Amino acid sequence: MSSSTVITNIATLVTNDPSQGDGSPLGLVRDAAVVVDGDRVVWTGEASEAPAADDRVDAGGRAVLPGFVDSHSHLVFAGDRTQEFNARMSGRSYTAGGIRTTVAATRAASDAELEANLTRYLDEALRQGTTTFETKSGYGLTVADESRALRIAARHTDEVTYLGAHIVSPDHADDPAAYVALVTGEMLDACAPHARWIDVFCEKGAFDGDQARAILTAGRAKGLHPRVHANQLSYGPGVQLAVELDAASADHCTHLTDADVDALAGGNTVATLLPGAEFSTRAEWPDARRLLDAGVTVALSTDCNPGSSFTSSVPFCIALAVRDMGMTPDEAVWSATAGGAAALRRTDVGRLAPGARADLIVLDAPSHVHLAYRPGVPLVTQVWRRGEREV
Ligand SMILES: [Zn+2]
Repeated sequence: MSSSTVITNIATLVTNDPSQGDGSPLGLVRDAAVVVDGDRVVWTGEASEAPAADDRVDAGGRAVLPGFVDSHSHLVFAGDRTQEFNARMSGRSYTAGGIRTTVAATRAASDAELEANLTRYLDEALRQGTTTFETKSGYGLTVADESRALRIAARHTDEVTYLGAHIVSPDHADDPAAYVALVTGEMLDACAPHARWIDVFCEKGAFDGDQARAILTAGRAKGLHPRVHANQLSYGPGVQLAVELDAASADHCTHLTDADVDALAGGNTVATLLPGAEFSTRAEWPDARRLLDAGVTVALSTDCNPGSSFTSSVPFCIALAVRDMGMTPDEAVWSATAGGAAALRRTDVGRLAPGARADLIVLDAPSHVHLAYRPGVPLVTQVWRRGEREV
């Protein structure tokens, strides 16, 4: 038998349920309470109306939000790229080729080393409020190394993405067509049982539109749903391909034409913005304002990876999105919670309403606005996942 807990004395509660509180997309309730029973939320509203529960937690006038949903990370890897970052910050530009360094280190690592590294970064993310995360393969690029990355990831999350098409494997540098055949053939067969999603880096120096279409279509035939690394470093076909194939998300969206924005606004594909990548490569920011004003659903994620965005901090990404991408604090918080859930086609996380998973965070601040207002400050003071306090 599960026991119920009321978390009360919440100054600001973000529900992401517009039928609650102030009726905004965040569904903000002031002087609020949440009741959790087992792994689910069973009640939210004003504290004065909260039903009785077995246990009581006093939030002390702090803000409570849904746990962050980080819908884009690359956490099965070994080694680091400190030297590359240092060189880039000394004036060299970033290209897709640096991935090869991590591929070599990842292939050389044992399963135990890869899993220990993954767990370390998941714990780091959890302490910063991430309660749901997606992660990808893409640093193995052989049948055996891609499938083991996915097996390891699947022990830690349901949101596992096969990214054999991260770059053309160095083993096939002279014959990209042969590598695409491998990614859509033997490697796909070995990887599909361990993944929910298939992804491709559609970019100059990685995979073009025709190759990306072949890879995503093959994955879909094996029951994997598409998502796409699209339009990160240059204009290209990725975003419109993502919408055409009903991808859950087009990720990066830094270089967009008006036709790309129109396609996103007219489809079911979420635009996932990853400002850690632009920050860490000193690149041009994606224009979140343009997407939001066009009616596109926007998610905000870390892209945590050792090359182009080595941050596991969603709060940091929220601060960047507000400061440099034209998002309001409310929009950035929504995109990092409900938006991330939409990018994973989930309705059980990213919101705090009856029936939702009891994944929530308590900030050492009275309002969610402080996530952008106080950048770099470790405000996440409690993390609850599936109804259990973990931080
Ligand atoms: Zn990525």
